[in-house]
Amino acid sequence: MRLKKFINTDNLKKDFSKCPYFNCDGALKLVSSDMAYCTDCFRLSFFCLNCGFPNRSRAMFCRICGNEVIVPEIDSIKYLSQSLNFEKEFLLIQLKEKVNSLPSIYRDCLFFLTESGRIYELSPYSQDALKEVGALGIDFSKSPFIVTELESFYHGFSTRVPYLLSICHKNLVGFDLTKFEFTKFVEFSSDKEIIYNSFESFVSIVEVKGRVYFFSKNSKGKLSLTQFDLKSGELTYFEINEANLLVGPFKISTFIGFYSISRIYLLREDGKLFSLEFPPNFKPLIRKEEFADTFPSGLRPPYIVVNNELYIQGSSNQKPHFLYFVVNDSNFSNYLFPTPKGVYGTSNSGYPIFASEDKIIEFNSSVSSELKKDEDLIDSYAPFHVSPLIIGFVKSSTRVMSIRFYNEENDSYYDFNISKLNSFQAPLSFYHIFGAIILTYISDNEVGAVVWK
Ligand SMILES: [Zn+2]
Ligand SMILES: [Zn+2]
Repeated sequence: MRLKKFINTDNLKKDFSKCPYFNCDGALKLVSSDMAYCTDCFRLSFFCLNCGFPNRSRAMFCRICGNEVIVPEIDSIKYLSQSLNFEKEFLLIQLKEKVNSLPSIYRDCLFFLTESGRIYELSPYSQDALKEVGALGIDFSKSPFIVTELESFYHGFSTRVPYLLSICHKNLVGFDLTKFEFTKFVEFSSDKEIIYNSFESFVSIVEVKGRVYFFSKNSKGKLSLTQFDLKSGELTYFEINEANLLVGPFKISTFIGFYSISRIYLLREDGKLFSLEFPPNFKPLIRKEEFADTFPSGLRPPYIVVNNELYIQGSSNQKPHFLYFVVNDSNFSNYLFPTPKGVYGTSNSGYPIFASEDKIIEFNSSVSSELKKDEDLIDSYAPFHVSPLIIGFVKSSTRVMSIRFYNEENDSYYDFNISKLNSFQAPLSFYHIFGAIILTYISDNEVGAVVWK
């Protein structure tokens, strides 16, 4: 779609070889054929597929021709193995605060919501890599959040705007990441409250087609999956007959899913709520305490969703297992897989990976495959996999010594010494953003990040 006639381009720069950002005339350096970064301000731009103009990384429409800006899918596999030099350059960033939910990625940035309710943006392609962009306030110190594009209208034309969405005790709020404005979408009355504390349980918030989902309970303690329609402002409650903790909600295929200790629930697009019992011996991990000893930060949810597949971490007859659950149209099936002890990481394609004493196992649909034996890789931290780079942690008998980047393609590895980081305590998450790698980690109860690009 085109938006050209509504944009006044007269006073904007139109030089195809220069940085498109305001107040910058830097030259562009190619990252790949469809993106470049500025050699002055380091910010990223994406080339228009129609006219070739370099548009700013958060633009929705091309400044010259009005075509939609397509976010390029960089072949990070090829790029990372060829260009990354872990020894040479890395950038250390310290967020002087604690977080209670994992960062969320949007285009070329990572977003953090901190314990004081502040929003930070970390961009590997920016001169000041870490910026405070706003604040939701102290009520959101333990809240889950997501960054998602919401439909918005510009001169009657539908466009999309990135929002950070979050919930607290009484409110569903949004923060516009282009205008940096705060919106209160819902305020709950005194007889209802939102279940938002991600410090205590694995609760989340999810948005699908302009509808936002989260849990709430009424004054009698009755739990509901709650749907808020951003367009109509309508709230819908799907009551759940559970007294216990719930995990989710999340999107799986065209459903909204969540689970309790004994059952999985699926809300179909037409508003029908299904529930299915877990296999008799399977017990999912639903309490944060149970998670704590296998993953120090306890921030990641005990499940992974890849399209129509769901992997739930738990146990069967006291032994660690993953429940693999798959949705095909309205047919559901599940299988139990024994897993090595320890924590999972995620592969480049989003599948779970486990490390045991001497091997790394990747689960992909109903197939598990062994990736690489490496006796130095420890089993008590999650390995992460950015194929062909496998990222793991090497430790002495008592503590983590280094991060290992293993390159499957040429069977070589590089160990990055943890002592280069400020009081490293535990890894949090890995990301690859358009050819850069970001590791976030816990240090002195704050969050640190190291960026390679
Ligand atoms: Zn620039
Ligand atoms: Zn264009």
